[in-house]
Amino acid sequence: MTIVLGAIADDFTGATDLASTLVAEGMRVVQVLGLPDDDTDTGDADAVVIALKSRTCEPGLAVRQSVAACDWLRGRGATQIVFKYCSTFDSSPRGNIGPVADALLTATDTPLALVCPAFPANGRTVYQGTLFVHELPLGESSMKDHPLTPMRDSSLIRLMQAQSRHKCGLIALQTVRAGPEAIRTRIADLAAAGHRYAVADALTDDDLRQLGTAAADHGLVTGGSGIATGLPTNLRRSGRIGTASAPALPRAAGRSLVLAGSCSSATRAQIARVKDTWPTRKIDVDAAAAGGAVAAAVEWTMAQPDDTPVLIYGSADPEEVAATQARYGAERAGALVEDTLSGIARQLHGKGFDRIVVAGGETAGAVVTALGATSLRIGPQIAPGVPWCDALGAAPLALALKSGNFGSETFFQDAFEMLT
Ligand code: ADP
Repeated sequence: MTIVLGAIADDFTGATDLASTLVAEGMRVVQVLGLPDDDTDTGDADAVVIALKSRTCEPGLAVRQSVAACDWLRGRGATQIVFKYCSTFDSSPRGNIGPVADALLTATDTPLALVCPAFPANGRTVYQGTLFVHELPLGESSMKDHPLTPMRDSSLIRLMQAQSRHKCGLIALQTVRAGPEAIRTRIADLAAAGHRYAVADALTDDDLRQLGTAAADHGLVTGGSGIATGLPTNLRRSGRIGTASAPALPRAAGRSLVLAGSCSSATRAQIARVKDTWPTRKIDVDAAAAGGAVAAAVEWTMAQPDDTPVLIYGSADPEEVAATQARYGAERAGALVEDTLSGIARQLHGKGFDRIVVAGGETAGAVVTALGATSLRIGPQIAPGVPWCDALGAAPLALALKSGNFGSETFFQDAFEMLT
């Protein structure tokens, strides 16, 4: 089956977010977890999103995996590649957004690529090249305290130039609002002046559509999921995709579980919302380090009533995270929580929990890998950027992979209500 659009995402929830955007625009989308091979089944998908776990790994590895994913997608017909990163530009001065984008520019032979993490539905907007998270510039938002990728600068141009080998210019809002022709002219001028990237301002979905239209013939487009909003229309206009049917809900009918590893303020509010209603257990990082935390959590879970969702979380506020990181180091502390939640997921799936919501990008990557899911058919959306997914494979498994900061306070309840 030939695909027409390919995407590479640097984490699992980001991939789902992008896939969901394409589904909402009427495309048939399969998300592949990790690098695909010759046997990977993508069904009748016209877009394939490859979910890597390359946001915080060593930059060389992120580049190698991303280029391999790009080659696989282009080998199956994709003429346009979207490189999807977080709408809060999660990265560090060493990468990985810059090095991966540089390598994909070369692999796709693209003169200049857009850089636009804007996602207005979730409060991420770009103005004069500055990224905002709701009313705050990125560097003043809660992202400044992220456990793995604290973001302390808000200028996308500065952030991109610090990570990339190339010059990065700006497509200001007035140009975006002047429409696709004006955007193309600006891109041509920037390219002529030696820029290989253009940060694009966008405050609304309509701004993103204008950019998408202007990028119809770009071999590479980079950004948050929003930048893909306008791309399916281009494909439909050129007759490369038809109209698709509405996506179906997943098949799983067993017990419900939430596993949260995100320490974001949104996830902590979602936890607080159900804490007194559902059986809830917090992972003790010291106990996880000592061993036996998985078995204890599984035993506790199996003793809970079977007619209610169960919530297990590692999530903590910035003070507690800092104290834990001081004891174990940031990487080991994160791995302890991720490994514990992954072990719990694997065991509980074997005991009838087949509707699983995971909160946190890195956490979702770890949990899904542990569950052995390799491809997901993307279903209807629970909240902007978070759909229910059906794991392709023998045993039913419904997964919702939520980027930490996404979703309203009632997200966990909303998710399971859709399945009843
Ligand atoms: P988000 O989507 O909010 O970025 P992630 O899952 O990507 O969430 O990242 C959160 C990281 O924080 C994970 O590596 C997770 O294991 C780690 N973490 C979770 N709870 C704690 C804790 N109590 N102390 C230290 N690190 C934690």
